[in-house]
Amino acid sequence: MSFDYPKNVRFQCTECALCCGDTKKRVRHILLLKKEAERISEATFKPAEEFTVQIEGREPYVYEMKKTEKEGKCLFLKENLCAIYASRPLICRFYPFQLKNMKDGRHRFSHTTECPGIGKGKRVGKSYLERLFQQAHEQLMGEATKAV
Ligand code: SF4
Ligand code: SF4
Repeated sequence: MSFDYPKNVRFQCTECALCCGDTKKRVRHILLLKKEAERISEATFKPAEEFTVQIEGREPYVYEMKKTEKEGKCLFLKENLCAIYASRPLICRFYPFQLKNMKDGRHRFSHTTECPGIGKGKRVGKSYLERLFQQAHEQLMGEATKAV
């Protein structure tokens, strides 16, 4: 399991839920793989059409999570907590990190500083990112990996 990653980043989630919807600066696209939507359907007993819209051109992602009209928040955000935490999609598990396939064939983790949890808590070690890497590998089965 080989990848590059920032060595001195600290992170601890403050549960602010900023990553669960739009902000003043950014429209959040919560992308879903087909099997992720199916897993959420099974967990919630809701058909995928109820919480997703189909998208094109973002393969392997084929759906985007619907958001509330007024606040632009994920439909599964309830009282600032994720109501489908165990089934949440890869993109939510990764945040505030992302993994890119570089042209030289290597994989590289980066992070967004928009997350208020960045700079807090303990330094993020390789094992934390290895778990994410493994989950991405399992979910995407070797397809182009980009969690944003
Ligand atoms: S934006 Fe960062 S700190 Fe806030 S809920 Fe998301 S991961 Fe946690
Ligand atoms: S699925 Fe959960 S973690 Fe992901 S955006 Fe929705 S509420 Fe947030």
